Amino acid sequence: MFLIDLYISPSDTENKLYDPLVNAHPGIGAPHSSSYWADTAGIAPEDDGPVSGPLDVEVAIIGGGYTGLSCALHLAREHGIRAVVLEANQVAWGCSGRNGSFARISGGRVPLAELIRRHGPVTAKAYFDEMSAGLNTVRDLIHDGRIECDAQPDGVYKVASDAGHVDGLKREVGLYNDVLKYDARLVTAEQVNAVHGGAESFGALYMPDGFSMHPLKLAWGILRMAREAGATVHVGSPVTQWHSDKGDHRLVTPGGIVTAKHVVVATNGYTSPALHKATAGRVLPVHSQIIVTRPLTAEEKMQSLVGSECMFDTRNLLSYYRRLPDDRILFGGRSAITGRDAENPKHRQNLQDALCRKFPVLQGIGVDYNWGGWVAVSENSLPFICRVPGLHNVVCAGGYAGSGVSFSVQSGKRLAQMVAGDSQPTSVDFLHQIPRRFPFQPFLRVGQRLAYAWYRFKDAQ
Ligand SMILES: Cc1cc2nc3c(=O)[nH]c(=O)nc-3n(C[C@H](O)[C@H](O)[C@H](O)COP(=O)(O)OP(=O)(O)OC[C@H]3O[C@@H](n4cnc5c(N)ncnc54)[C@H](O)[C@@H]3O)c2cc1C
Repeated sequence: MFLIDLYISPSDTENKLYDPLVNAHPGIGAPHSSSYWADTAGIAPEDDGPVSGPLDVEVAIIGGGYTGLSCALHLAREHGIRAVVLEANQVAWGCSGRNGSFARISGGRVPLAELIRRHGPVTAKAYFDEMSAGLNTVRDLIHDGRIECDAQPDGVYKVASDAGHVDGLKREVGLYNDVLKYDARLVTAEQVNAVHGGAESFGALYMPDGFSMHPLKLAWGILRMAREAGATVHVGSPVTQWHSDKGDHRLVTPGGIVTAKHVVVATNGYTSPALHKATAGRVLPVHSQIIVTRPLTAEEKMQSLVGSECMFDTRNLLSYYRRLPDDRILFGGRSAITGRDAENPKHRQNLQDALCRKFPVLQGIGVDYNWGGWVAVSENSLPFICRVPGLHNVVCAGGYAGSGVSFSVQSGKRLAQMVAGDSQPTSVDFLHQIPRRFPFQPFLRVGQRLAYAWYRFKDAQ
C-alpha cells in the first residue's frame, strides 16, 4: 500500500482531530469524542474487543458505524452470513455516535427540483421511496430490537429563514405532492411560530415523517442486535494496510491479519485515501459541528423552541436544531475546513451567533457541549451503494452528505444483499455506480473554501 506512506499516523500529528485527508487511519481504540451523546448514553453494550491473532473470515466489514453495523446485522439475520466488523476506535466513534440525531427521509444533498431534472421523475420517485424505506428500516429496528433510544414524535420543519425563501418552499411542496405523491405541506409563519418562536421563521415546509432520537443509543442497539444474530464486532482494530491476492483480501490490523473473501467498506466520511487507492478520493470529508446549550428555563423555552420536532433552515450553509428532552437546544452547522482548524473557538462562536440570531432570548446562553465530525460528500452529492471497480468481492457505501442516519442503515441492508449475491438490490441505477473521484484532489480544500465564501455571501443577501 504505497499510499500509506503519503499519510501520517494519528500519533505523529499535532492535529487533535483526525483528519481523513491528512492521517492514515482514525486511531487505535480512541475513546468517543466528548459530546452530549457520549455523556448521556449510559453503559455501552459488550463488543468483541480488538482483533487478537490472525482471522480467516467470509466477510470483513471496515467501519463500525450505522452502515457497517446494519450490514453485519442484515448479513447474519437475513442471509445467514456471520461477518466480522473491524472498527478502528469504538463502535459509532465516527458520525454515527456524534450526529444531529434526525432520522429523516433523506440521503445526499441535491435539491428536489435538481434531482428531478437530472434523473427524471420516475427515478426521483424510486429514490424517494428508497429513502422512505430507509426511515422505515430504522423504525423497524427500534421496534424489533426494543432499542431504547429516546425516539421523539415525528415531524420535520424546513424553516424559511428569509421571507424571500417562502416561494421556493411552495414550489418544493408542489414537487413533493405532484411528482413524489408525498404529503409535504406548506405551513404559514403563524403556524411555525407555534413551535418555533424568535426570529427567522417566515413559514416552513412540513414533512410528517422523520423523528429525532439518541444516535449513540441507536448505534449501540444495532450493535447488540448484530452480535445476537451472530456477527462479531472488533473495536480498536484499524485496517492499516490492505493487500489483495487471488480473490483473498488481507487486512492488516495491529492485533493480527484478517483474511477475507468479501470486504465491505463502511468508513464513509472517515475514509483516508491511504485505506486503498480504489476507494481514495470518492468522497470529500466536510466538517459539521454541534453545540448544546444548558437547559432552558420555562420562559426561554416559550420564546424559542416550543416544539421538539426536527428543524433546519433554508440557508445554503444551513443550520439544524432541535430541543432535547432535557430542554437544552442542540444546534449544528458547517464549520472548519481542516481538522487542524476544527477546534478553533471561532467555529463554536459562529454557531452560537447563528443560534442567537434565531432566538434572541438566548443571547449569552451557556454552551455545555461542543463537538464535530466528518460528513461525506460525493462528487454528485448523492449516496452510493456499489461494487468497487477493480477489486474482487468488495462493496462500499457512503456519500450521505450529512443526511445519512436512516440512509446509512438502509445502505447497510442493501450492502448485505449485494454480498449475498444480488447485483443491484434497488431500481435506482445511480445509487449503484461508484462516484467519480473528485478532480484536482490536492486542491479540494481550496475549492471548498471558495464555495463556503460564496455561500456565505449568498446567505447574507
Ligand atoms: C455533526 C454531524 C451531524 C449530523 N447530523 C445528522 C442528522 O441529524 N441526520 C442525518 O441523517 N445525518 C446526520 N449526520 C450524518 C450521519 O451521522 C452519517 O451519515 C452516518 O452516521 C454515517 O454512518 P456510517 O456508518 O456510514 O459512517 P460513520 O458512522 O462515520 O462510521 C465510519 C467508521 O469507520 C471507521 N474507520 C475509518 N477508517 C477505518 C479503518 N482504516 N479501519 C477501521 N475503521 C475505520 C471510523 O472510525 C468510523 O467509526 C451528521 C453527521 C455529523 C458529523
